[in-house]
Amino acid sequence: MEKIYLYNTLSRCKEEFKPIDDKLVGLYTCGPTVYNFAHLGNLRTFLFEDLLKRTLVYNSYQVKHVMNITDVGHLTGDMDMGEDKIESGARREGKTAWDIAEFYTQAFLQDLNKLNINFPDIWCKASDHIKEQIDLIKELEKKGYTYITKDGVYFNTSLVSDYNKLSHLPLEELKEGARVEKNPEKKNPTDFALWKFSLPVGLRQMEWKSPWGIGFPGWHLECSAMSLKYLRNNLDIHCGGIDHINIHHTNEIAQSESATGKKFFNYWLHGAFLNMGNGKKMAKSGKNFVTLKSALEDKNIDPLAYRFAVCQVHYRKMMEYSLKSLQQGQNSLNNLRSAVAALGEELGEVDLNFQMKFKQVINNDLNIPQALALLSQVLKSKIKDKDKKATILDFDRVLGLDLGKVEKKQEAIKPWGSKIEGFNLKLTKKIVELLNKREEARLKKDWTRADKLREEIISLGFTLEDITEGQKIVVKNHE
Ligand code: AMP
Ligand code: ZN
Repeated sequence: MEKIYLYNTLSRCKEEFKPIDDKLVGLYTCGPTVYNFAHLGNLRTFLFEDLLKRTLVYNSYQVKHVMNITDVGHLTGDMDMGEDKIESGARREGKTAWDIAEFYTQAFLQDLNKLNINFPDIWCKASDHIKEQIDLIKELEKKGYTYITKDGVYFNTSLVSDYNKLSHLPLEELKEGARVEKNPEKKNPTDFALWKFSLPVGLRQMEWKSPWGIGFPGWHLECSAMSLKYLRNNLDIHCGGIDHINIHHTNEIAQSESATGKKFFNYWLHGAFLNMGNGKKMAKSGKNFVTLKSALEDKNIDPLAYRFAVCQVHYRKMMEYSLKSLQQGQNSLNNLRSAVAALGEELGEVDLNFQMKFKQVINNDLNIPQALALLSQVLKSKIKDKDKKATILDFDRVLGLDLGKVEKKQEAIKPWGSKIEGFNLKLTKKIVELLNKREEARLKKDWTRADKLREEIISLGFTLEDITEGQKIVVKNHE
């Protein structure tokens, strides 16, 4: 098996990936908090995790993938203060907390489907694992890691000597961050709730009995309880967005390792943010977040154009949202699909040389942007068309861009309003140049030159029509 290198947040280094089991990889990805639609930022993280999983599968690993659904316990303050996000969603929409969780879980599944994100093997809801969470608190209590305050059962972080090993931040800084949410009863600012009491009982929709009082589990607990339940012997990779490093994942590690006395996951991978286009993180609590529906479907853009745009940026680099990048993603995707379609129906052999290079780039901490560049090289290479097709479709097992999809009419809308149908990658540059020149000539009312350019375009195998928004060209042999 070829070597895979992954950047591990624990060591802040690219490390050779060695799973506990030879063939099987345990993968836990923190799932959505289902009180609203997922935004493109959340989906960027889920796309990165999908690319990771597909890379492991491409390397012949069997992957056991577990994803949680947070349907209780995630408070608006991200730590232990504020309202439960699901309960506040229920109030906002006048529905029950259970209905809200179910509705947004279904919406999330649809988003994953549209983005060709493969489903995990195990979905687990926090509210279905209350017993496991209570058992974990009991274990921590037995070992002396907990204390009780008026509002809940807390974990004493001062008893964990390597509490900052994931964040690599000085303890003082972590404490400073935690001080934002004041709770005078906490022994240390970084301590966090394992169980919160319902105050008063009956006000919340989701609450359960526990040995300490009626209430609900703290947010971090669910991921520890469920990953230990489903991946106990395969604690290989744990993922999420970078916002999870300092609090959520730090606390997961502290409570899990204190309870089991063993290392909790060997590799921690984190995806960088999608920003709003102004350097600010896209957030569900912010006003301006965009969803798959609002940013793409309502504008007739294929959701996979977003997958393409995400593939263009390495997962550890910040990415800025813009409508233009989605439109460009759509154009590039259309071009690629047309180029693949133009290779013919026949499927040859995967080119082993290109396959080796592809593996090298994806195994180098998921260098998907470089994998896309390699794909262009395959198209330009001298190998047989049918082998090009087989090689590209093989790459698509990881990229997930449906590159074999043939669209009868593919439209690429150019900024100046011309429409190009049946776009063919090889002709793109030349034809766009000619169209631009002709547009210029038409604007100057230089009809002789415009006609000459029309003839040149037609001679390349296109038909050309002038329409109100500009020029429309159609590749004849695609009709
Ligand atoms: P949530 O639904 O808020 O629990 O988040 C689901 C996932 O999305 C988590 O892994 C977060 O770290 C991640 N996430 C949240 N905001 C962004 C963003 N703007 N860009 C990338 N990932 C994000
Ligand atoms: Zn989690």
